[in-house]
Formats: sequence, C-alpha cells, structure tokens
Amino acid sequence: MPRSMHWVSNLLFPAKSAREQREQIIGIFDSLRKQIPLLYGVALINLIGLHVATHGSELRWFSPITVLSILLIWRMLYWIALQKPSEDFTRIRRELVKMVVFTAILCAGFSVWSQSLITVYPEETMTILLYSVLAALGAAYGLSSFPRAALIPLLLLGLPVAVRLSWLGRASDRGIAVSLILVLLLFIWQLHVHNTALLGLVRGQLAITRERNRAVKAELEAIKRAEEDVLSGLANRGKLVREIEENLVRGPATGGGSVLAICDLDGFKSANDAFGHAAGDEILREYARRLSKAFSDNALVARLGGDEFSIFWKDGLPRLKLERAASQICELANQPIDWDGKELLVGASCGVTEAGPFTWSNQEFFRQADAALYKAKASSRGRWYLYDQPQFQADQRRAKIEKSILSGEALHEIDIHFQPIFDLEKGIPVFAEALARWNSTELGVVLPDEFIRISEKLGVIDQLNEHLLEKALASAEEWPESLSLSFNLSALQLSRPLATERLYKLVLGSTLPPQRVQFEVTETAILSDLDHAEQELAKLSELGFTIALDDFGSGYASVAYLRQLPFDTIKLDGTLIDNVFDSERSRQILLGLVDLCHAAGARCVAEHIETYEQLSLAQAMGCDYGQGFFLGKPTSSDRMLKMLNSIPGSTPAWLRYSGSKTIF
Ligand code: C2E
Ligand code: MG
Ligand code: MG
Repeated sequence: MPRSMHWVSNLLFPAKSAREQREQIIGIFDSLRKQIPLLYGVALINLIGLHVATHGSELRWFSPITVLSILLIWRMLYWIALQKPSEDFTRIRRELVKMVVFTAILCAGFSVWSQSLITVYPEETMTILLYSVLAALGAAYGLSSFPRAALIPLLLLGLPVAVRLSWLGRASDRGIAVSLILVLLLFIWQLHVHNTALLGLVRGQLAITRERNRAVKAELEAIKRAEEDVLSGLANRGKLVREIEENLVRGPATGGGSVLAICDLDGFKSANDAFGHAAGDEILREYARRLSKAFSDNALVARLGGDEFSIFWKDGLPRLKLERAASQICELANQPIDWDGKELLVGASCGVTEAGPFTWSNQEFFRQADAALYKAKASSRGRWYLYDQPQFQADQRRAKIEKSILSGEALHEIDIHFQPIFDLEKGIPVFAEALARWNSTELGVVLPDEFIRISEKLGVIDQLNEHLLEKALASAEEWPESLSLSFNLSALQLSRPLATERLYKLVLGSTLPPQRVQFEVTETAILSDLDHAEQELAKLSELGFTIALDDFGSGYASVAYLRQLPFDTIKLDGTLIDNVFDSERSRQILLGLVDLCHAAGARCVAEHIETYEQLSLAQAMGCDYGQGFFLGKPTSSDRMLKMLNSIPGSTPAWLRYSGSKTIF
C-alpha cells in the first residue's frame, strides 16, 4: 500500500493497534458491502434528478453527467460483485479506501456543480438544494456503519450547499437553510456517537476474542500437559491408554491386528546410581528421542514411567516389519549416550504383542506385552519376545489356577500322597514325605511346584500348607510309631510371623508328638532371610521337631547353612543321583557331599533313587536314608501302609529285590 494510502487508512480507521484496526475494517466491510451499491444508486438518482431539473431530460453522450453516471453504475456493479465476504484483508482495506476517495471526489464534484447551478439557475435553488441535501443525507445514511466516511457527503456536499443558501438565499429560504444546517450538524453528532460506539464494540469484541483465545490456548496446554510425559516430551501412559481404547484393531489369529511393544532399559538403574539422576534423565530423554525419530511417523511412542517405554501401531505391522521394529527398539538403546564428556551405556529388552481374537480387552493387550517383556528379560538382556498362542494358553491356565486357588475350590481338590523314606541300613521305612497332589476337574493334573509357587505369589500359601499339614497329621495318626511324617514347608512360610507357633499348635492338635514330625525346608526359604530362618528353625528344633534341608546341592548350596542351622537331615538333590553314573567326578562329588552331611552332624538322604544300581551306590557311599520311585512311589496313605505291611520288618527291602520290578 502506498504511503498516502496508509495515511488515509489511519485517518479513516482510528485504532490503538494494528489488530484493532483490522477488526474494525473487517467489521465495517461486513456491514457496508450490501449498502454501498445502494449508496451509488442514491448518488446516481440525485445526479440525474438534478440534471433533469436544471437542464431538462435531454442527455448527451460524452457530457460530464453521462460519464459520471457510467462511473457510478460501474462502481455500483463492482460492489455488487464484491458481495462475498473476502478473506483478503489488504484487499478489503484497499477497496474501502478507494470507495472513500471516490465518494470524496464525487461529493466535492457534486458540491461544486450544485453551487454553480444555484448561481446559473437561482429560480431552481430549492430544487438544487433538495437534491443536494438528499444526496448528502442519503450517502451519509448509506455510510452510517462507517462514521468517518459518512462525514464526507455531509461536510463536502450537504453543508456547503446549505450554508450558501442561508447566506445568499431569500429571507424566506434562510429558515429552511438554517434548519437544514442544524439537521446536518445533528447527523454529524450522531455519527460521532456511532463512531465511538463502534470503536467500543470492536474493542469489546477484541477483548472477548482475546479472552477466548487465551482460554482455548490454556485448555490446549492443559490437554497437552495431561497427555505428555514432561521429562521426555513423549505421550504419557494416559494418552497411550486412551489411544488404545479408541483405536485397537483385533486381527485374526494369523496376525494383522494392532501391535503394542513395551520395552525397558537394562542397566538403567546402575547408570543412574553411578552417574546421578541428571545422567539418568539424559538417558531417558535420548532414548525417547531415538524411539520417536524411528517410529513416530506411523506409531504412538509413549513413556509409561520409570525406564519403561511403549510403542503402539494402531494399524498393525506385517510380520517382517514387526520383527525388524522389535530388534530396532533394542538396538537403539545399545548406542552409547554422550553425557558430560562420558559415554553412558545401557540396553533394552522388549516385549511385543499383536491384538488377536484372544485380546479381549485393553488390559489384556497390556498384560500380553508385559508378559512378553518378562519372557524376553528372563531369557537374556537386550532381547525381544513376541507374545504367542502357546504363551497365551499357559497364561490362561495360570489364570484359572489362580482363580481356583483364590476361590478356595482348589483346597477341596488338593489331596496328600505319601512317599516312604527308607533307612538304608535297616531296610525299614522311617519317614513318609507328604506330597501334595491336585487332580483338578477343570485343569487336569496340576503339579505341586506350579500351584505352590502361585499360592506363594497370591499370599495364600499359609492357608494351603496348614490345611495340608492337618490332613497329613490325620493320616499319620494311623501309622506305626516307627514311621514319622516328613512335611515340606514353603519357602515363604518360614518368613511369616508366628509361623512356627501355628505349626506347633496344629501338631499339638493331633496325637502325633513333635518328635515324629520332620519339616523339610529348601535353600530358597533360608536364603531370603538367613537370621530369621535360623531363629525359626531353632524354635522348631527346641520344640522337638526334626529339621531337614531339602534338595541340597541344587541351588546355591552353601556350607555356611550347614554350620549355622540345626539340620538333623540333609536331603541330597535328586539330580546328584540322576547323574551319578555319568562320570567318576559325579560320584566323587556325591561321596564328598555325603561326608559333608555327616561332618555337619546330619543324616543324609539320597533322593530320586530310581534303579537298583543307584540304590546300591547310595548305600555304598554311606547314605543313611533313601527315597525314590525304586523304593516307593508317592501314593495314598492307605496304599502306602498296605505296601509297607507286605514287607517283612526284619528283611531289608532291597535284599528282596529280584529282577527289574520296583519294590512296590
Ligand atoms: P521335594 O520336596 O523334593 O519332593 C520330592 C519330589 O521328587 C516329588 O515331586 C516326588 O514326586 C519326586 N520324586 C520322588 N522320587 C522320585 C524319583 O525317583 N524320581 C523322580 N524323578 N522324582 C521323584 P513332586 O511331588 O512333584 O513335588 C515337587 C516339589 O513340590 C517338592 O519337592 C516340594 O518342594 C514341593 N511340594 C510337594 N508337596 C508339597 C507340599 O505339600 N507343601 C510344600 N510346601 N511343598 C510341596
Ligand atoms: Mg521334600
Ligand atoms: Mg527334595
């Protein structure tokens, strides 16, 4: 826009700011665009009317009046064509300024012409006056939405003509002229008031818009904050959950559904501890940046919290791409991260799942990815694992086991079997180990290792084991006095407050003296809290119970336990016997362990004796007791008693062995 135009524009649209001026101009244009053609129409009619009144109805081509009329018609048509609200602000302003300039020229011309007409045709003064004032008022009224522009016809056309008349006219006309001047002044005053109101309106509207914009911005920021992880700038868990809720696609079992990957950083805690939280934050930020760069084009990358991240592909991924993405998630963490001149090294493991028919809820979708991550971490660091159908079935089974245990159904179905433990020298059974058996109507056989671990995790192992001890004691009451009960305690049981007291109370409730009850504990039970285990075992020992260390040699067997804890019996893990014929070395180790047990003042049990050869060897090595399928499989108390009664008490069982049959 030329400078002069700017000047005119500022004069026409007084405003405190460019924004206010812009609003004002748009407002004026919107209310004026329908009136402007009318304005030119009024000017045209008055122009022609004045010409006819003074010159008659004859019109000549190329006369000023004809040219002006054509110009007016052209402007009128031009504004009719401009009816659509324009988005182009500069154009709107230009059109308004052009219109004002044209109106000013027109009014000035009309004014000069009517002045000259009054001089030439004094007898037509009233008519000229009427046309001029009508033209001025009509134009001013048409421009009333644009107060400053509306002043132009009043000041340039109406006022000079009225003043001239009041000055030069006859005395009778002066009254009309003065009255006209007053009307014009009143009109000017009204326009001033209107102008002020218009400005106020625009300012008010602007303030409302500003407030609304601020509110919208604040709301957007709040939404963003609610959906964003502040540290990494990635989406947060809430956003991811919402996204999954809205977009999860379940594909067929063959694949094609939405994909969810959950990964966490290996070695993050060590780096955090070694270099401080600032370094930890940088690791998280850098890994977030790498993930975002690699996947955010077609997936939602989120930080779930801590060092856990997640990537969600709502449209799924072809299997090959899925595998590539999973390895990339792990690899991205492998590249060193620069921090304060140091190179920080971490890794990542990842679990991936594809939504299929068995993904019945969003929680299940997360659970599957989590389970896959757990598997990946269990195999080795820096690996990924894809959740699959077999794992789903295993999880299903586990969920059913949990349900059955929690509902108490399992307690009704779990039974106790007994397996004899023989004195290898005398050939008589001295203990019978109670072994839980669960033949579920719904799940089939569930192994004790499995349901005991699950009961421990669910925190209901005490109820289960106490229930089993009661049952075992009831059976043991029927046994001969020479046969004692050997009962397995769970790893967690020893760490519970009052566990010892409760066990003692149960035994007191039976006819069995504590001397006929042996408790078997594993190394894991002792490992979790050695001092506490020592106290509890000492208490049990003082109460008269026999204590056995079970599965010795299977885990982190420590000689310290043997020195510190009051074991009466040490049961050598079955794998030691299983492998005894593999090598001379295995035999020497077993021999050494038997000696170790004796050195610790305990009797030694060889577990898993499955063959006559293993039995002979255990015996030859000096094992005090033996247990295994060869000597007797776990069975019900009644059957065990029947079988034991069928062995003549004086004859060692293995001496009666002939052929390949087990003893019973
Ligand atoms: P454990 O205490 O070492 O029990 C011996 C396991 O070895 C039993 O497995 C038994 O069936 C098996 N076994 C016995 N002789 C042989 C043999 O000659 N060859 C082989 N291969 N195996 C033999 P089971 O019954 O499956 O029990 C596994 C484990 O579950 C037990 O190991 C024990 O730790 C735990 N468990 C069993 N019942 C109970 C219970 O009532 N309470 C607690 N807390 N744990 C129990
Ligand atoms: Mg045992
Ligand atoms: Mg054992």
